[in-house]
Amino acid sequence: MSNIPKIVILGAGYGGIMAAQRLQKELNYNEADVTLVSKHDYHYFTTHLHMPAAGTDSYENARVSISKLIDEFKIDFVKSSVKEIRIQDKKVILEDGTLSYDYLVIGVGGEPETFGIPGLGEYAFSIRSINSVRVIREHIEHQFALYKQDETRADRLNFVVGGAGFTGIEFIGELSDRIPMLCKQFDVDPKLVNIYNVEAAPTALPGFDPELVEYAMNVLKKKGVTFKLATAIKECTPEGVLLATGEEIKSSTVVWTGGIRGNRLIEQAGFEAMRGRVKVDEFLRAPGHDNVFIIGDNSLMINPAIDRPYPPTAQMAMQQGPVCASNIVASIRNQPLKKFEYHNKGTVASLGKGEAIGVVGKKKLKGFWAAQLKKVIDIRWLFIIGGISLALRKGKFL
Ligand SMILES: Cc1cc2nc3c(=O)[nH]c(=O)nc-3n(C[C@H](O)[C@H](O)[C@H](O)COP(=O)(O)OP(=O)(O)OC[C@H]3O[C@@H](n4cnc5c(N)ncnc54)[C@H](O)[C@@H]3O)c2cc1C
Repeated sequence: MSNIPKIVILGAGYGGIMAAQRLQKELNYNEADVTLVSKHDYHYFTTHLHMPAAGTDSYENARVSISKLIDEFKIDFVKSSVKEIRIQDKKVILEDGTLSYDYLVIGVGGEPETFGIPGLGEYAFSIRSINSVRVIREHIEHQFALYKQDETRADRLNFVVGGAGFTGIEFIGELSDRIPMLCKQFDVDPKLVNIYNVEAAPTALPGFDPELVEYAMNVLKKKGVTFKLATAIKECTPEGVLLATGEEIKSSTVVWTGGIRGNRLIEQAGFEAMRGRVKVDEFLRAPGHDNVFIIGDNSLMINPAIDRPYPPTAQMAMQQGPVCASNIVASIRNQPLKKFEYHNKGTVASLGKGEAIGVVGKKKLKGFWAAQLKKVIDIRWLFIIGGISLALRKGKFL
């Protein structure tokens, strides 16, 4: 049997792809066996999913084949779903087999958090993957078609988005751009369509600069969005949502963007976790497991400036991936590990075509220039993972 260490990476998201690419660059020939496991044979840009979900862009522009991103002479790619992580046995159980490892990278991303609100899990949609956004897009179009068949069902034209965080706001921006197109296509009076954004916190985009939040809300209100802030969803039913205020919004389309948690696989594996996220050490390792690295939405790191966890972002995952890969290489070579330090490169939220808000360093941006910056950020990711050819191929559509 070979004595070469086995490295298994779970998840080909922002963190996993970066880790795989760094490993293929740093490892010498025959220094380790690397296997990347992911549910799909493509990597998808989660940060772009609000567009295909609303139908303002094709889902093809939000994904790229994994074979185009990794060197399959250096990394084995296994398209499969992880069912269980057995830490004590150093094994990963897949839907169709078992992998053993010496080093493990866990980057399987987050899951929607419904906070136990009845019905959300069953009746609300969530923007999580290419498959999920395909369903949302088709469903929205179908509501217009159904309404034309039975015009007594005006509730078919009510769209409820739960949560006014980044995902919710970006999706509403796109949806409010798409509605006029759908009205034209299906001969529907735009005045009959309602987009509601329901948020339990007293403000949209909690934690964001208040002046920019006001700007964002005004842009979206002008596009026809009705905000219901400081209003919790009490229950989601097949007929719509019941709010804590007692109000009921009838709707066949509820999209829940109000919460994200880590992955249940993490809890099932027996790690000490907070809502599916493991507080990793400064080298990105799980406490007590020097051979297990946890990155992206599965990890939890404290921002020392405010003594609170960093929010789970693509930016965090893509910075953690290479550091965890370098630390695995260092572990194999008995060299010192590198501490992970997060560098916030700024945050931009799009509000639909040509509109966005953002903060870069101390600079606030809004409108056209913020929207251009959002495009630059997306193209930068394409360039990082796929070089100039991917940036040119997919970037021109952004
Ligand atoms: C609509 C939307 C907009 C966003 N916008 C931004 C933004 O503008 N900026 C920002 O920084 N962040 C944004 N985020 C957050 C960001 O997308 C996540 O923080 C980031 O994707 C986390 O990266 P990750 O590598 O941990 O996981 P992911 O990118 O989610 O990747 C996880 C991978 O694991 C795979 N996987 C999952 N379960 C299994 C399993 N059981 N077996 C095998 N494979 C599995 C998945 O298919 C996926 O490929 C947004 C999120 C959403 C949903």
